[in-house]
Amino acid sequence: MKELEINHVYKDYKLGNKSKFNALNDINVAFEKGELVSIVGESGSGKSTLMNLIGGLDSDYSGEIKIGGIDLKTFKEKQLDDYRKKKIGFVFQSFNLIPHLSILDNVTIALTLSDVKESVKLEKAKTILKKLGLENQLKKKPTQLSGGQKQRVAIARALINDPDIILADEPTGSLDSATTLQILDIMKEIADDGKLVIMVTHSEKVASISSRIVELSDGKIIRDEKNEKYKAEIKETKLVEENAEKLEPKKEKHLSTYSSIRLSLHNMWASRTKNFLMALGVTISLISMILMLAFGSGLTSYIDSLAQSYSSPTIVTVSKSTGSAENPMGAIMDLISPTPYADGEIETVVNDINTYLDENYSDLDFRIDPSQLDYGYSTLTAAAGMGGNASATINFDVNGQEKSSGIFYLYTTPPYYTEEQLLAGSLSGSPTQDETTGESIGQIMLSPKIAEEMGLENIEDALGKIVTVKVSYSINNIPISINEKCEITGIVDVNMFATSLVMYVDYDYLASLVSEQGATLSPTSFYIHTDSESTTDIINNYLSTTEGYTGSVENQMASMFSEMMSTFSIALAIIAGISLIVAMIMILVVLYMSVSERTREIGVLKSIGARKRDIKKIFTTESFLIGLFSGIIGVIFSAIVGGLLILLFNSLLGFAPLTFHWYYFVLALGLSVVISVLAGLYPASKAAKLDPVESLRHE
Ligand code: ADP
Ligand code: MG
Repeated sequence: MKELEINHVYKDYKLGNKSKFNALNDINVAFEKGELVSIVGESGSGKSTLMNLIGGLDSDYSGEIKIGGIDLKTFKEKQLDDYRKKKIGFVFQSFNLIPHLSILDNVTIALTLSDVKESVKLEKAKTILKKLGLENQLKKKPTQLSGGQKQRVAIARALINDPDIILADEPTGSLDSATTLQILDIMKEIADDGKLVIMVTHSEKVASISSRIVELSDGKIIRDEKNEKYKAEIKETKLVEENAEKLEPKKEKHLSTYSSIRLSLHNMWASRTKNFLMALGVTISLISMILMLAFGSGLTSYIDSLAQSYSSPTIVTVSKSTGSAENPMGAIMDLISPTPYADGEIETVVNDINTYLDENYSDLDFRIDPSQLDYGYSTLTAAAGMGGNASATINFDVNGQEKSSGIFYLYTTPPYYTEEQLLAGSLSGSPTQDETTGESIGQIMLSPKIAEEMGLENIEDALGKIVTVKVSYSINNIPISINEKCEITGIVDVNMFATSLVMYVDYDYLASLVSEQGATLSPTSFYIHTDSESTTDIINNYLSTTEGYTGSVENQMASMFSEMMSTFSIALAIIAGISLIVAMIMILVVLYMSVSERTREIGVLKSIGARKRDIKKIFTTESFLIGLFSGIIGVIFSAIVGGLLILLFNSLLGFAPLTFHWYYFVLALGLSVVISVLAGLYPASKAAKLDPVESLRHE
């Protein structure tokens, strides 16, 4: 049995217009181990076509090609990959080394595809490169070698797996005559080691050194001669050590993830500028996405905390409401000029809330006790057009001079205010008696703005001052005219939306002043003291579903604002998402172009025995890494930019409306990886599907 038998092989190339081109026409030939065969013939006579068939790169032929008695046609794709990897070594005219890999990595690539241990790879490569005189070139890149050196590297690569057949397509075609002789010597040595070497050549001189010459013409063998002068020299040491793995077939191993990452990193480094620019595009999208999310949640939680700081966790303020998310002006009007409750209305609301609690929170101990409510009243006093004919002033004397200031809002003091709200003093409530005159002296608190109007340097200086308060307006058409002596006992800033001229008085005190005038003060809000924060939340949530009533106006404004903000920030994040899609298309284009740039490399890998899956893995790994790196850079830059923005806002505004949640970064990193891998899928599968013969022909 011969090593290689070719029987009645025909090969047609399909041409575009349904016609065919017959490249091989009934080839019958057989070769034995140890032969150094030269295939000669004019250009276009079918030499390369024959080599590709023997090498298992092209399976589209008719006839029989038997290796060790087994017909190649019986091989499945997997076996054919394995055949190229283990049985065949390819050497090309244009060397076809992988430019971004070192000499060492180029030589060991076939072993890498079989996941051979690093130490074994190094030892094998060193031994063979030493025999070929390249032991000092391991670390160099292919471009740093001469033509002869490159071809010796390619021969080392072909020999590394100890194949039985070496196929060399014009190996000396690009070399000068001195180098040609060196390469021929090596080829002869390989044949003398007992391998079958088939070499395509143009030069009769090269052919004359081989053991056999086969000449092709128009796809037919027209000459097949043995060279009688040829003598095999059996050497003591072989060029390649016998492959131990071949003797005891192990479980098949393939390209490891580690190696595929290494290969990808080498290639990414080789085109680092391109990759960096691509990563930059992704990075910018990620940064804008993270910042938009951070602003959205930062502003919302800032407003929330502002509202929180103005409300007690265990008090629900219930006001009549005409505002809603659809009618924000209504909410503002509620704030400026609240509507008083009608007779019996408060009892109805309390009953409704208690019924709601009975129905939905029967386990909850808390029910509202109508006798435990506090009441509040507020009105706009200054603007005659808005609040009717109201007006209010306080008169005070500064160094004996009578002065006055208008008051815009009249508030009753709420049952609760925080440290932040109470700036100085306090309000005890009921009026006191002047010891000498027996006059009743009321107590008021003022907003900081009024202290300022009084021409006081420190707001504390207002405390203890006696002023005359004049209020005139009407309730239910009953004119109210208040003229009272009052002591300023506190400076307070209760309402987040009303920091201007505000006067606060005790509810009962105001009610008594009003009733002295023959009218009845109807509250504009009432306060429920709850047992816990969660009860407060339950009641506030309930109120937000009712029409006509609201929990604290601040809460209402805050929830309206956060509703608006979350819609807004989702819109912004979608814009950032679109820029991510643009980045994804960019990655796709770059990877796609890289497939065509690397067509030859893919052909080489296939000729060495890379499976489709291996090629796919290399490209997918690369897109994964691009995503990972872009994501990491994006996250780092977002953190830096975010930190700087926080510093900037803090120094400008005293607070930073950005909140960075850790999951924004995880989301960004994840998205970056996912879109890159998705973008890489198509180029990777295109690369895997490339036809090896065409790839190798690719310029
Ligand atoms: P050689 O290597 O002897 O120069 P080839 O084997 O490359 O010749 O080509 C043999 C013939 O087949 C040539 O005429 C060439 O034009 C033709 N041929 C090679 N590849 C293709 C192909 N993919 N499609 C069509 N014709 C091809
Ligand atoms: Mg050719």
